[in-house]
Amino acid sequence: KSGQKKVASKASFEIGLVNAKEGEVVTRFPPEPSGYLHIGHAKAAVLNEYFARQYKGKLIIRFDDTNPSKEKEEFQDSILEDLELLGIKGDVISYSSDYFQEMYDLCIKMIKEGKAYADDTTQEVMREQRMDGIASARRDRPVEESLDVFENQMAKGTEEGLKNCIRAKISVDAGNKTLRDPVIYRCNLTPHHRTGDKWKVYPTYDFCCPIVDSIEGVTHALRTIEYRDRNAQYDWMLKALGLRKVHIWDFARVNFVRTLLSKRKLQWFVDQDKVESWSDPRFPTVRGVRRRGMTVEGLRNFIISQGPSKNIINLDWSLIWAINKKVIDPVAPRHSAVVKKDVVEISFADAAPETVEDRPKHKKNPDLGTKKTVFGGKKVLIDQDDAQTLKDGEELTLMDWGNIIVEKIHKNGDLVTGIDAKLHLEGDFKKTEHKVSWLAESDATPCELVDFDHLITKDKIEEGENFEDWLTPETVFKTEALADSNIKNMKVGDIIQFERKGYYRLDQPWSEDKPAVFFTIPDGKVVQKY
Ligand code: ATP
Ligand code: MG
Ligand code: MG
Repeated sequence: KSGQKKVASKASFEIGLVNAKEGEVVTRFPPEPSGYLHIGHAKAAVLNEYFARQYKGKLIIRFDDTNPSKEKEEFQDSILEDLELLGIKGDVISYSSDYFQEMYDLCIKMIKEGKAYADDTTQEVMREQRMDGIASARRDRPVEESLDVFENQMAKGTEEGLKNCIRAKISVDAGNKTLRDPVIYRCNLTPHHRTGDKWKVYPTYDFCCPIVDSIEGVTHALRTIEYRDRNAQYDWMLKALGLRKVHIWDFARVNFVRTLLSKRKLQWFVDQDKVESWSDPRFPTVRGVRRRGMTVEGLRNFIISQGPSKNIINLDWSLIWAINKKVIDPVAPRHSAVVKKDVVEISFADAAPETVEDRPKHKKNPDLGTKKTVFGGKKVLIDQDDAQTLKDGEELTLMDWGNIIVEKIHKNGDLVTGIDAKLHLEGDFKKTEHKVSWLAESDATPCELVDFDHLITKDKIEEGENFEDWLTPETVFKTEALADSNIKNMKVGDIIQFERKGYYRLDQPWSEDKPAVFFTIPDGKVVQKY
């Protein structure tokens, strides 16, 4: 029972997949290259990989690139890079566009068998008819005519072709509205990022997904549960075309409070310059959360702990950051920093000469090696907040150094402007009330600590609400600080702890003319101090 906490994350997976045989399972992660990978996609990718490995099967990474108006090479490359970052390697990389010819032929087959027809009803009317369960005037169009429209008009992108689409002839008024003659092919004249202008017609998701899954040998198609209504349609397509059946296995989307995961909405923030890029630390993209200090291990642990749950919930970010903290705490080197605004100098009349010593970067993890710490000298710096707690005559401990005795606190109103003190290094640190982090003045190196707020103020944007009405006015909070000079040697991506402050990730390295920039890593506990 004591190990229950640890295995809880694994237990949910014991459910397994229906009809899964070791060595035969094939799963696929099918991103559309229309944006950068976000944390929701990461869940889908990790789950697909998990099942492929669990059953010693195969994982296909398939770019679902059937809509040239939204897709770009840039997105495709970034998705591959991000998957690699997550440690996910497909056994096969494929593209829906590899199957354009097969799908085109299958569409012709469907038309010839009377299972699909060309329809030039306007979009608006079509939507209304589908809502009301009314047949399209074109539903019984002769096969020859539909074929002609598809092959000679739509496929060539003529004006007449552009007015038409192909619809599967499933049902006019089924209770499940996804079965009401869904569109399976439409024209698009935008050049495709892989096939150029070879095609003027493109299959819809509803047609493409089951066909490519079946052709590629997918045994288990993982889909988020909002697609559940579409499962009947998915099965219909395969049956109508005489293709091999695929098992559908649904799982819950992840959503986070005050977070948008729609690529279209994220693109808006990029286009409006509300964020720096898709890698912005306020973005829920894989790049964004990594820049904010999320580790690959933390992200994977989080997804596995969610397991294949079918409940859609609006998760709080503190959950995932708490998991990340467990990963970084034992390995984040510890350093010292003080806030520059109203920093307080402690002056020693009896200063010892300065010494530089090697000290462990992490007292509990000697493997991390040592850092240089400057001791002694005439002045050390402490935070105003700490100075506020001190009293004349008090003996306090400067952490990892020793005790000092406060002789006089200089004030301007409530603000402490300086402290005179004398060293009492041999004093007992167990007896002091205050243990304060500090920095030798000669060692103080400028840096910037940056914290962020969520981009929107509302936990969940409901259907019909516009996210643009809920933008957080201020989302970046910069604090100038001074840190020990070891930060001069840190590289972008280094994760450290500033003692008694929190965890930080270096985003811009220190240089002679620019301070180092650190991003605050939420630890899931401290309520951020905006
Ligand atoms: P968007 O609507 O933001 O464009 P999408 O779902 O259409 O997202 P895809 O690139 O088609 O984006 O998604 C690839 C895979 O990731 C799909 O299998 C999809 O179900 C899954 N996925 C997308 N968002 C989430 C989410 N929030 N939680 C879990 N899985 C998700
Ligand atoms: Mg999609
Ligand atoms: Mg979508």
